[in-house]
Amino acid sequence: MQPSALQKYGEARLPRYTSYPPSPEFSPTVGSDTYAAWLSGLPSAAPASLYLHVPFCRSMCWYCGCHTTITAKDQPVVEYLDLLRKEIDMVATRAPQPLPVDRVHFVGGTPTIVAPADFVALTDLLLDRFGFADAA
Ligand code: SF4
Repeated sequence: MQPSALQKYGEARLPRYTSYPPSPEFSPTVGSDTYAAWLSGLPSAAPASLYLHVPFCRSMCWYCGCHTTITAKDQPVVEYLDLLRKEIDMVATRAPQPLPVDRVHFVGGTPTIVAPADFVALTDLLLDRFGFADAA
């Protein structure tokens, strides 16, 4: 880690994106219709943040507080990425188009367990489906 990053973020009270919405907000009353209504009701000019959580890792970090499953196999990750691409399409078609995005959070095992080519394809898909701000 760069010392400048430590200085910049070390004392900051940053949000902890282990799930969104956060687990206290989970409820069986929130179904697909509610989700679709939330997406279509997003303000078209307000910047949005995207949160992508791939819940698989090769090994468990001692400080982990995330939802994850340890696996040595690639197949669960590949299958999950298929579903993630479908969800990206679903969100993009129901949200205001193009949804302006200024932040993307890759969470879970995303940075290490997703194959580089799959990660590039994922970011290409995001760039294609959403309206990224220059500063994103
Ligand atoms: S990479 Fe992240 S999600 Fe995976 S075990 Fe480590 S802290 Fe947990």
